[in-house]
Amino acid sequence: MKSVMIRKPGEIAVVDSPMPAEPEKNEVIVRIKAAGICGSDLHVYHGRSAFAAYPRIIGHELAGEVYQAGSLVSDLKPGDKVAIDPVISCGNCYACRIGRHNVCSSVKVLGIHVDGGFSQYIKVNAGNVHKIPDNIPWEEAAVIEPFTIAAEAVDRGRLSADDSVLICGAGPIGLAILQAVRRAGAKAMIMDIIDSRLERAKKMGAEKVVNTNNTDLVKAIMDFTDGEGVNLIFEATGSISVLELCVSALVSQAGRIVVLGYPRETARITPLDIMRRELDIIGSRLNRNMFPEVIEWIKAKEIEPSSIISHVFPMEKVREAIEMYDSEPEKTCKIVLTF
Ligand code: MN
Repeated sequence: MKSVMIRKPGEIAVVDSPMPAEPEKNEVIVRIKAAGICGSDLHVYHGRSAFAAYPRIIGHELAGEVYQAGSLVSDLKPGDKVAIDPVISCGNCYACRIGRHNVCSSVKVLGIHVDGGFSQYIKVNAGNVHKIPDNIPWEEAAVIEPFTIAAEAVDRGRLSADDSVLICGAGPIGLAILQAVRRAGAKAMIMDIIDSRLERAKKMGAEKVVNTNNTDLVKAIMDFTDGEGVNLIFEATGSISVLELCVSALVSQAGRIVVLGYPRETARITPLDIMRRELDIIGSRLNRNMFPEVIEWIKAKEIEPSSIISHVFPMEKVREAIEMYDSEPEKTCKIVLTF
Protein backbone atom coordinates (compact mmCIF):
# COMPACT_ATOMS: atom_id res chain seq x y z
CA MET A 1 0.00 0.00 0.00
CA LYS A 2 1.02 3.63 -0.46
CA SER A 3 1.92 5.77 2.56
CA VAL A 4 3.26 9.27 3.09
CA MET A 5 6.50 9.01 5.03
CA ILE A 6 8.81 11.58 6.56
CA ARG A 7 12.10 9.68 6.26
CA LYS A 8 13.96 12.32 8.24
CA PRO A 9 13.38 16.03 8.82
CA GLY A 10 12.88 17.76 5.46
CA GLU A 11 12.46 14.53 3.47
CA ILE A 12 8.96 13.48 2.46
CA ALA A 13 8.04 10.66 0.10
CA VAL A 14 5.12 8.53 -1.01
CA VAL A 15 6.43 5.04 -0.27
CA ASP A 16 5.28 1.44 -0.59
CA SER A 17 4.69 0.12 2.90
CA PRO A 18 3.44 -3.27 4.12
CA MET A 19 -0.31 -3.81 4.62
CA PRO A 20 -1.25 -4.04 8.31
CA ALA A 21 -1.23 -7.58 9.70
CA GLU A 22 -4.53 -9.30 10.52
CA PRO A 23 -6.43 -7.39 13.23
CA GLU A 24 -6.27 -8.68 16.81
CA LYS A 25 -9.59 -9.37 18.59
CA ASN A 26 -10.21 -5.71 19.43
CA GLU A 27 -8.62 -4.10 16.41
CA VAL A 28 -9.98 -2.68 13.20
CA ILE A 29 -8.35 -2.04 9.84
CA VAL A 30 -9.66 1.13 8.23
CA ARG A 31 -9.30 1.99 4.58
CA ILE A 32 -8.45 5.70 4.65
CA LYS A 33 -10.48 7.91 2.32
CA ALA A 34 -9.48 11.42 3.42
CA ALA A 35 -7.05 12.98 5.90
CA GLY A 36 -6.35 16.54 6.98
CA ILE A 37 -2.90 18.11 7.00
CA CYS A 38 -2.16 19.72 10.35
CA GLY A 39 0.45 22.16 11.60
CA SER A 40 1.82 19.34 13.73
CA ASP A 41 2.43 17.24 10.56
CA LEU A 42 4.49 20.18 9.34
CA HIS A 43 6.39 20.22 12.64
CA VAL A 44 7.32 16.56 12.06
CA TYR A 45 8.33 17.34 8.45
CA HIS A 46 10.53 20.25 9.49
CA GLY A 47 12.07 18.46 12.47
CA ARG A 48 10.45 20.85 14.94
CA SER A 49 8.22 18.31 16.66
CA ALA A 50 8.86 17.86 20.35
CA PHE A 51 7.50 14.32 20.10
CA ALA A 52 8.26 12.63 16.76
CA ALA A 53 10.77 9.91 15.85
CA TYR A 54 11.80 9.04 12.27
CA PRO A 55 11.04 7.53 9.84
CA ARG A 56 7.39 8.34 10.44
CA ILE A 57 4.17 7.86 8.47
CA ILE A 58 2.37 11.08 9.41
CA GLY A 59 -1.35 11.92 9.58
CA HIS A 60 -3.80 11.99 12.47
CA GLU A 61 -6.95 13.67 11.04
CA LEU A 62 -8.45 10.56 9.55
CA ALA A 63 -11.63 9.31 7.96
CA GLY A 64 -12.32 6.13 6.08
CA GLU A 65 -14.31 2.94 5.98
CA VAL A 66 -13.93 -0.20 8.02
CA TYR A 67 -12.07 -2.81 5.97
CA GLN A 68 -11.71 -5.61 8.48
CA ALA A 69 -12.76 -5.96 12.13
CA GLY A 70 -11.32 -8.25 14.84
CA SER A 71 -13.35 -11.13 16.26
CA LEU A 72 -14.53 -9.28 19.37
CA VAL A 73 -15.55 -6.08 17.60
CA SER A 74 -19.33 -6.13 17.56
CA ASP A 75 -20.34 -2.57 16.70
CA LEU A 76 -18.29 -2.05 13.54
CA LYS A 77 -18.46 -3.95 10.27
CA PRO A 78 -16.73 -3.69 6.90
CA GLY A 79 -18.03 -0.72 4.93
CA ASP A 80 -18.97 1.39 7.97
CA LYS A 81 -18.03 5.03 7.54
CA VAL A 82 -15.77 6.15 10.41
CA ALA A 83 -13.51 8.83 11.84
CA ILE A 84 -10.45 7.84 13.90
CA ASP A 85 -9.47 9.32 17.25
CA PRO A 86 -5.66 9.51 17.12
CA VAL A 87 -5.09 9.48 20.92
CA ILE A 88 -3.63 6.31 22.47
CA SER A 89 -3.16 6.09 26.24
CA CYS A 90 -2.02 3.61 28.91
CA GLY A 91 -5.14 3.50 31.10
CA ASN A 92 -3.13 3.22 34.34
CA CYS A 93 -1.36 6.48 35.09
CA TYR A 94 -2.78 9.29 37.20
CA ALA A 95 -4.21 11.23 34.24
CA CYS A 96 -5.84 8.09 32.81
CA ARG A 97 -7.24 7.12 36.22
CA ILE A 98 -9.01 10.46 36.58
CA GLY A 99 -10.42 10.32 33.05
CA ARG A 100 -7.89 12.63 31.41
CA HIS A 101 -6.34 10.03 29.10
CA ASN A 102 -5.50 12.71 26.51
CA VAL A 103 -2.68 13.78 28.81
CA CYS A 104 -1.66 10.22 29.75
CA SER A 105 1.95 10.20 30.94
CA SER A 106 2.79 7.95 27.99
CA VAL A 107 0.23 9.32 25.52
CA LYS A 108 0.86 8.37 21.91
CA VAL A 109 -0.65 10.12 18.93
CA LEU A 110 -1.06 8.47 15.55
CA GLY A 111 1.26 10.09 13.04
CA ILE A 112 3.47 11.66 15.71
CA HIS A 113 4.71 9.07 18.24
CA VAL A 114 3.61 6.07 16.14
CA ASP A 115 2.84 5.66 12.46
CA GLY A 116 -0.28 7.49 11.38
CA GLY A 117 -2.86 7.45 8.68
CA PHE A 118 -1.54 9.15 5.55
CA SER A 119 -1.75 5.65 4.23
CA GLN A 120 -4.22 3.58 2.29
CA TYR A 121 -4.90 1.42 5.35
CA ILE A 122 -4.31 1.72 9.09
CA LYS A 123 -4.89 -0.69 11.96
CA VAL A 124 -6.17 0.80 15.23
CA ASN A 125 -8.04 -0.23 18.35
CA ALA A 126 -11.79 -0.39 17.86
CA GLY A 127 -12.18 2.09 20.74
CA ASN A 128 -10.50 4.75 18.59
CA VAL A 129 -12.97 4.27 15.75
CA HIS A 130 -16.21 6.29 15.65
CA LYS A 131 -19.08 5.72 13.26
CA ILE A 132 -20.21 8.77 11.32
CA PRO A 133 -23.37 9.37 9.29
CA ASP A 134 -23.30 8.22 5.67
CA ASN A 135 -24.09 11.68 4.36
CA ILE A 136 -20.91 13.37 5.63
CA PRO A 137 -18.53 13.95 2.70
CA TRP A 138 -15.10 12.35 3.25
CA GLU A 139 -13.29 15.69 3.29
CA GLU A 140 -15.50 16.95 6.10
CA ALA A 141 -15.14 13.72 8.02
CA ALA A 142 -11.37 14.26 7.94
CA VAL A 143 -11.70 17.52 9.87
CA ILE A 144 -13.73 16.09 12.74
CA GLU A 145 -10.43 15.75 14.63
CA PRO A 146 -9.60 19.49 14.61
CA PHE A 147 -13.14 20.13 15.84
CA THR A 148 -12.48 17.72 18.74
CA ILE A 149 -9.55 19.99 19.62
CA ALA A 150 -12.04 22.87 19.71
CA ALA A 151 -14.50 20.83 21.80
CA GLU A 152 -11.76 20.05 24.29
CA ALA A 153 -10.67 23.70 24.43
CA VAL A 154 -14.16 25.10 25.13
CA ASP A 155 -14.72 22.38 27.72
CA ARG A 156 -11.42 23.17 29.43
CA GLY A 157 -12.24 26.89 29.32
CA ARG A 158 -15.71 26.32 30.84
CA LEU A 159 -17.29 28.34 28.06
CA SER A 160 -20.72 29.77 28.79
CA ALA A 161 -23.07 31.76 26.55
CA ASP A 162 -22.51 34.93 28.62
CA ASP A 163 -18.75 34.96 28.09
CA SER A 164 -16.96 37.52 26.00
CA VAL A 165 -14.36 35.51 24.13
CA LEU A 166 -11.13 36.28 22.31
CA ILE A 167 -9.61 33.72 19.97
CA CYS A 168 -5.96 34.38 19.16
CA GLY A 169 -5.19 32.91 15.75
CA ALA A 170 -7.59 32.35 12.84
CA GLY A 171 -5.98 29.20 11.46
CA PRO A 172 -7.95 25.95 11.28
CA ILE A 173 -7.92 25.46 15.07
CA GLY A 174 -8.88 29.07 15.84
CA LEU A 175 -11.70 28.86 13.32
CA ALA A 176 -12.91 25.52 14.70
CA ILE A 177 -12.94 27.07 18.18
CA LEU A 178 -14.85 30.05 16.78
CA GLN A 179 -17.55 27.69 15.53
CA ALA A 180 -17.69 25.91 18.89
CA VAL A 181 -18.02 29.27 20.66
CA ARG A 182 -20.73 30.52 18.30
CA ARG A 183 -22.56 27.22 18.71
CA ALA A 184 -22.71 27.90 22.46
CA GLY A 185 -24.13 31.37 21.82
CA ALA A 186 -21.18 33.38 23.15
CA LYS A 187 -19.73 36.48 21.49
CA ALA A 188 -16.32 36.00 19.95
CA MET A 189 -13.65 38.31 18.73
CA ILE A 190 -10.75 36.86 16.78
CA MET A 191 -7.29 38.16 15.92
CA ASP A 192 -4.69 37.19 13.34
CA ILE A 193 -2.21 38.85 11.00
CA ILE A 194 -3.70 37.46 7.77
CA ASP A 195 -6.75 39.26 6.37
CA SER A 196 -8.04 36.32 4.31
CA ARG A 197 -8.27 34.20 7.45
CA LEU A 198 -10.10 36.98 9.27
CA GLU A 199 -12.53 37.19 6.33
CA ARG A 200 -13.28 33.50 6.83
CA ALA A 201 -13.84 34.19 10.54
CA LYS A 202 -16.30 36.99 9.75
CA LYS A 203 -18.33 34.63 7.58
CA MET A 204 -18.42 32.18 10.50
CA GLY A 205 -20.00 34.78 12.75
CA ALA A 206 -17.12 36.44 14.58
CA GLU A 207 -18.48 39.63 16.17
CA LYS A 208 -15.24 41.43 15.56
CA VAL A 209 -12.01 40.60 13.75
CA VAL A 210 -8.69 42.33 14.37
CA ASN A 211 -5.59 42.32 12.22
CA THR A 212 -2.91 43.06 14.78
CA ASN A 213 -0.53 44.21 12.05
CA ASN A 214 -2.55 47.39 11.72
CA THR A 215 -4.80 47.57 14.78
CA ASP A 216 -4.06 47.95 18.49
CA LEU A 217 -5.38 44.75 20.08
CA VAL A 218 -5.61 46.11 23.63
CA LYS A 219 -7.73 49.06 22.51
CA ALA A 220 -9.91 46.84 20.31
CA ILE A 221 -10.53 44.46 23.22
CA MET A 222 -11.37 47.24 25.64
CA ASP A 223 -13.81 48.75 23.10
CA PHE A 224 -15.36 45.33 22.54
CA THR A 225 -15.84 44.70 26.26
CA ASP A 226 -16.54 48.21 27.60
CA GLY A 227 -13.19 48.24 29.34
CA GLU A 228 -13.74 44.95 31.19
CA GLY A 229 -11.35 42.73 29.21
CA VAL A 230 -12.34 39.37 27.75
CA ASN A 231 -13.58 36.63 30.06
CA LEU A 232 -12.21 33.71 28.08
CA ILE A 233 -9.21 33.62 25.74
CA PHE A 234 -8.05 30.81 23.48
CA GLU A 235 -4.37 31.22 22.62
CA ALA A 236 -3.86 29.38 19.33
CA THR A 237 -1.11 31.47 17.71
CA GLY A 238 1.80 29.92 19.58
CA SER A 239 3.27 33.39 19.94
CA ILE A 240 4.96 34.14 23.27
CA SER A 241 4.23 37.85 23.04
CA VAL A 242 0.53 37.17 22.43
CA LEU A 243 0.32 34.95 25.52
CA GLU A 244 2.13 37.58 27.57
CA LEU A 245 -0.31 40.24 26.38
CA CYS A 246 -3.29 38.01 27.19
CA VAL A 247 -2.16 37.77 30.81
CA SER A 248 -0.98 41.34 31.27
CA ALA A 249 -3.62 43.31 29.39
CA LEU A 250 -6.45 41.43 27.67
CA VAL A 251 -8.13 39.10 30.15
CA SER A 252 -10.83 40.29 32.58
CA GLN A 253 -11.05 39.82 36.33
CA ALA A 254 -11.81 36.14 37.05
CA GLY A 255 -10.91 35.32 33.44
CA ARG A 256 -9.61 32.13 31.86
CA ILE A 257 -6.87 31.68 29.30
CA VAL A 258 -6.77 28.38 27.43
CA VAL A 259 -3.31 27.66 26.02
CA LEU A 260 -3.23 25.64 22.78
CA GLY A 261 -0.12 27.03 21.08
CA TYR A 262 3.05 25.33 22.24
CA PRO A 263 6.26 27.26 21.60
CA ARG A 264 9.25 26.16 23.67
CA GLU A 265 10.38 29.63 24.63
CA THR A 266 9.85 31.05 28.09
CA ALA A 267 7.11 33.61 28.62
CA ARG A 268 7.43 36.54 31.02
CA ILE A 269 4.28 36.55 33.13
CA THR A 270 3.76 38.50 36.35
CA PRO A 271 2.30 36.45 39.23
CA LEU A 272 0.57 39.60 40.47
CA ASP A 273 -1.46 39.66 37.23
CA ILE A 274 -2.60 36.10 37.87
CA MET A 275 -3.27 36.51 41.58
CA ARG A 276 -5.07 39.83 41.70
CA ARG A 277 -7.56 38.80 39.00
CA GLU A 278 -7.73 35.16 40.11
CA LEU A 279 -6.94 34.00 36.57
CA ASP A 280 -7.11 30.44 35.34
CA ILE A 281 -4.36 29.62 32.85
CA ILE A 282 -5.41 26.30 31.40
CA GLY A 283 -3.66 23.87 29.06
CA SER A 284 -5.65 22.06 26.39
CA ARG A 285 -4.20 19.14 24.48
CA LEU A 286 -5.71 16.72 21.96
CA ASN A 287 -9.20 15.56 22.95
CA ARG A 288 -10.82 13.63 25.74
CA ASN A 289 -13.38 11.41 23.99
CA MET A 290 -14.84 14.33 22.07
CA PHE A 291 -15.52 12.48 18.81
CA PRO A 292 -19.10 11.46 19.73
CA GLU A 293 -19.92 15.03 20.77
CA VAL A 294 -18.53 16.61 17.59
CA ILE A 295 -20.32 14.03 15.45
CA GLU A 296 -23.54 15.13 17.19
CA TRP A 297 -22.73 18.80 16.41
CA ILE A 298 -22.37 17.88 12.75
CA LYS A 299 -25.58 15.84 12.68
CA ALA A 300 -27.42 18.81 14.20
CA LYS A 301 -25.75 21.17 11.70
CA GLU A 302 -24.45 23.30 14.57
CA ILE A 303 -21.02 23.58 12.96
CA GLU A 304 -19.88 23.71 9.37
CA PRO A 305 -16.74 21.59 8.96
CA SER A 306 -16.39 22.35 5.26
CA SER A 307 -15.87 26.05 5.97
CA ILE A 308 -12.36 25.50 7.35
CA ILE A 309 -11.24 23.51 4.26
CA SER A 310 -9.42 25.53 1.60
CA HIS A 311 -7.94 22.82 -0.63
CA VAL A 312 -8.23 19.13 -1.41
CA PHE A 313 -5.30 17.25 -3.00
CA PRO A 314 -4.91 13.58 -3.95
CA MET A 315 -2.37 11.98 -1.60
CA GLU A 316 0.16 11.59 -4.44
CA LYS A 317 0.45 15.39 -4.42
CA VAL A 318 1.24 15.64 -0.72
CA ARG A 319 4.51 17.44 -1.36
CA GLU A 320 2.73 20.16 -3.36
CA ALA A 321 0.08 20.40 -0.65
CA ILE A 322 2.68 20.83 2.08
CA GLU A 323 4.65 23.39 0.08
CA MET A 324 1.47 25.38 -0.43
CA TYR A 325 0.59 25.16 3.26
CA ASP A 326 4.06 26.43 4.13
CA SER A 327 4.47 29.18 1.57
CA GLU A 328 0.97 30.58 1.05
CA PRO A 329 -0.69 31.01 4.45
CA GLU A 330 -2.89 33.77 3.04
CA LYS A 331 -4.40 31.32 0.52
CA THR A 332 -4.66 28.20 2.65
CA CYS A 333 -6.63 27.06 5.63
CA LYS A 334 -7.15 23.32 6.19
CA ILE A 335 -5.79 21.20 3.35
CA VAL A 336 -7.23 17.70 3.00
CA LEU A 337 -5.67 14.75 1.18
CA THR A 338 -7.83 12.12 -0.50
CA PHE A 339 -6.84 8.48 -0.76
MN1 MN B 1 -4.35 18.17 13.96
